[in-house]
Amino acid sequence: MPALSIVIPCFNEEACLGALHERLTAAARDAVGEDYEIVLVNDGSRDGSWAIMQQLAANDPRLLAVNLSRNHGHQLALTAGLDLCSGDVILIIDADLQDPPELLPAMLQAMRDQQADVVYGVRKSRAGETAFKRATAHGFYRLLSRATEVDIPLDTGDFRLMSRRALDAFLGMPEQARFIRGMVAWIGFRQVPLPYDRGERHAGETKYPLRKMVRFAFDALTSFSSAPLKLASHVGIGLSVGSVLLVLYIVYAWLSGSSIQGWTSLMLIVVVIGAAQMFVLGLMGEYIGRLYNESKGRPLYIVQEMAGGGGRRDARLGYVADAIANSDKPGGSGIRPIK
Ligand code: UDP
Ligand code: MG
Repeated sequence: MPALSIVIPCFNEEACLGALHERLTAAARDAVGEDYEIVLVNDGSRDGSWAIMQQLAANDPRLLAVNLSRNHGHQLALTAGLDLCSGDVILIIDADLQDPPELLPAMLQAMRDQQADVVYGVRKSRAGETAFKRATAHGFYRLLSRATEVDIPLDTGDFRLMSRRALDAFLGMPEQARFIRGMVAWIGFRQVPLPYDRGERHAGETKYPLRKMVRFAFDALTSFSSAPLKLASHVGIGLSVGSVLLVLYIVYAWLSGSSIQGWTSLMLIVVVIGAAQMFVLGLMGEYIGRLYNESKGRPLYIVQEMAGGGGRRDARLGYVADAIANSDKPGGSGIRPIK
């Protein structure tokens, strides 16, 4: 078991991998000498990422490269890497070097000094991101924290250091719709922040277009709060009060003989109630769709092949096979086939 594992999900990151490998290696050596491993997960990249990973793995016995069968999405790719890593302490970091690997010693220090199980990076500033992304992220994290009882830290990504016991607790959570930063907050233990300045992407473009960001936000909200479902009853109560007033008015209008007019108010009522109903139905659909997905119990991801990992490679493949064999055991990471 290495002292340190560094886990990185990668999607179309060919332009970053070289620099990433160099800076991670330097940071890891600095922190723990030779006792580390790097786990790169290729999340179905369509560029040359996998070829580069294989090449890096061929020249570095401390590197394990994992190729998923297709693009499973950031959170699942990360889960694959977390399943397969074996270190005592685990660093999660993006491939684009927006989060500086050089913070590793400071994170280890914070973990030791404060006896923490998780040290999470908090973004003091975010360079190179559009005002739109910063504003929506800012608003979203605050909305989420109001909607949920779990204390999910604000302005935090997946950049964090975790202890083995925290990771094992995390790996016991089987859900498909994964909002990892929230799930880690949920497990508890002592978790401490480490403020840092988030840099610009080393190369390439963000792999989170608006569409993925919106889905991610809905995953977060639906996984950690049922408040939106209660919106229906709030809207319903509001409309009921309104309708009582309306009934009084209608009776009054009828009594005073002026009950024919009223196209405008009628249309307003139809449109407003129709929109409210559709909105609430849509919200319920979000939850039902996710329930449906969870109920299928599919594996979270499929590993196609692995490269590197030195002599430990077979053991790792065995580990995956083990996970299938032990899939009915509670706890541990063998909860699902190839999880
Ligand atoms: N990523 C991934 N699968 C995806 C999308 C992204 O593995 O489908 C990885 C990506 O390679 C990067 C990390 O997730 O290492 C974060 O993505 P990105 O930096 O593009 O997001 P941003 O920092 O712009 O929010
Ligand atoms: Mg990034």
